[in-house]
Amino acid sequence: MFVGHFAVALGAKRAVPAVSLGTLFMAGQLADLVWPVLVIAGVERVGVQPGLTIVTPLDFIYYPFSHSLLAAAAWALAFGAAYAGLRHAPARTGAVLAIVVASHWALDALTHRPDMPLTVSAESARVGLSLWNSLPGTIAVELLLFGAGLWLYTRATKALDRIGRLSLWSLVAFLLVVYAANLFGPPPPSGMAAAWSALAMWLLVAWGYWVDRHRAVVRV
Ligand SMILES: [Zn+2]
Repeated sequence: MFVGHFAVALGAKRAVPAVSLGTLFMAGQLADLVWPVLVIAGVERVGVQPGLTIVTPLDFIYYPFSHSLLAAAAWALAFGAAYAGLRHAPARTGAVLAIVVASHWALDALTHRPDMPLTVSAESARVGLSLWNSLPGTIAVELLLFGAGLWLYTRATKALDRIGRLSLWSLVAFLLVVYAANLFGPPPPSGMAAAWSALAMWLLVAWGYWVDRHRAVVRV
């Protein structure tokens, strides 16, 4: 899943308006921000096998620290607690952020083939509902989620200036172009190459902070 994770982050702005969109992106994509770092460090492993699923050729061989259910729960608790503690935010804000972090695992489990471990053990049971075996199904679910999240974010905030509009809509266009390239472009030459390009996810977090700084929360 790609734009679906951003959808959750965008939509969550309505629940926790004081939290920047950049922080919400970090929460919703925490697993995919950590994953390329762990792959490059040699801790987790990914391969490329064209035809493995209809949508992605990525073979997630070993990724328990970024993508197991147990790790998702731990990352969620740590992220929510760290934000609430560092920013002196209400516990409710921390709880919403924890849910956004955990949502990553749930959405990935919907799309991945059964390659998502429950624990960090190499022998762990693996789950996945394989939505990636349907191209129209994947696109429909992700775009519906993205549309809903974007609608919630644009209702919860308004542009303070021209950049407030431009930064948001250029981000939306960029995400959709990257998504289309992932769906219809050639497979990456190697798992390592996929991990290096996935590092660009960190730029999207920065983009989220930029957007949010030029938009004001609308009281609803
Ligand atoms: Zn993921």
